[in-house]
Amino acid sequence: MNEQQLSERLEKVVSYIPAGSRIADIGSDHAYLPCYAAQKGQVEFAIAGEVVEGPFQSATKQVRSLGLTGEIAVRKGDGLAVIEQEDAIDVVVIAGMGGALIRSILEAGATKLAGVKRLVLQPNIAAHQLREWGEANQWALISEAILCEDNKIYEILVLEPSPEIVTYSDAERLLGPFLMREKSAVFQAKWRHELENWQGIQAKIDANNTKNAERLAELAVKIKIIEDVLR
Ligand code: SAM
Repeated sequence: MNEQQLSERLEKVVSYIPAGSRIADIGSDHAYLPCYAAQKGQVEFAIAGEVVEGPFQSATKQVRSLGLTGEIAVRKGDGLAVIEQEDAIDVVVIAGMGGALIRSILEAGATKLAGVKRLVLQPNIAAHQLREWGEANQWALISEAILCEDNKIYEILVLEPSPEIVTYSDAERLLGPFLMREKSAVFQAKWRHELENWQGIQAKIDANNTKNAERLAELAVKIKIIEDVLR
């Protein structure tokens, strides 16, 4: 993967960035995504945000070597702290981290989201955390994608601010409202695997020990949701 040949996962993320956007790619690592988007002429301006020195240096080098310092600002900082009001960022991308970490970045930087029109989030795990965050903060899902690359399954969530209260059913929160309706082959493979995993855990938990009752009840709810959707 490089700035010219992105992974299928990051290509899909880029496809949700409207042409001419001003983006912040948080946790940019080598800045491949903003470099690719800038070279394609898809973004007017990009921030490549990184909190760790090594990746920050890699991003800086990458942007300089491609002569993109006019379009891409590489900034070192934690989460959304790298965004300034005058950047007029309209799309925030956060990809390649766990759902809980992405959620904590959104929570810690809530004030920086004023004026942002779209979030493109790609959690490696626990996407439900981001649907929950959307419900709590009035950001509605407008699209979702699921894909398999190098034997790993990735979900992409696209959210926009909503004037109305956002609520999902338990199934929609866990599986994704768009994804569970589409029920693609990748979606089915992911949730069959999770189902087997959770059934295995369920079988190993001692049901006679009352301490396990809550855990077992939680598992039973999740298993039923998946069984119903996969049926
Ligand atoms: N976004 C790229 C992608 O999807 O391929 C890189 C993903 S990489 C696995 C995660 C990056 O996020 C790392 O470079 C890490 O240093 C950075 N990161 C983690 N927490 C961060 C935070 N709070 N603020 C900014 N960057 C962060």
